[in-house]
Amino acid sequence: MTGTVQEPRDLGFDITCHSRGLLEYCVRHCTLQQANITFAGESTVHGLVYADGRVRGVHYTQAGETHCLAADFVVDAGGRRSQTPRWLTTLGTPSPGGYDDRG
Ligand SMILES: Cc1cc2nc3c(=O)[nH]c(=O)nc-3n(C[C@H](O)[C@H](O)[C@H](O)COP(=O)(O)OP(=O)(O)OC[C@H]3O[C@@H](n4cnc5c(N)ncnc54)[C@H](O)[C@@H]3O)c2cc1C
Repeated sequence: MTGTVQEPRDLGFDITCHSRGLLEYCVRHCTLQQANITFAGESTVHGLVYADGRVRGVHYTQAGETHCLAADFVVDAGGRRSQTPRWLTTLGTPSPGGYDDRG
């Protein structure tokens, strides 16, 4: 045997070990508990609402129906396949730095 087994001691912080799926489940569960948050599941965003020089919401489809959701602030969490750079280019606005237009 090499080395020694050290006595457990308090390092001053906690570490949790879990799968990504469990973390995502817990974040989703906690988010759903917030009374002022609603989910539009099974939806696909397919464009930005753009007027008077700024983004004012998103167009999305859910169960085959198209909707328009007005918003003061839009966060793109679409990951690497995000269409936002292409939508911004279509609107004639520059894409954020670091993004390339993957079309
Ligand atoms: C094979 C593989 C292995 C990986 N392994 C690791 C790892 O071990 N550790 C690590 O840290 N990272 C890993 N990564 C990277 C990690 O998965 C990503 O960095 C992370 O998932 C990015 O999270 P995100 O929320 O930004 O995007 P995503 O997890 O991609 O989520 C984006 C979501 O937006 C949805 N979406 C996209 N466009 C639209 C739209 N128009 N309308 C509605 N919904 C939309 C998508 O369906 C998706 O659910 C791995 C990636 C891959 C592909």
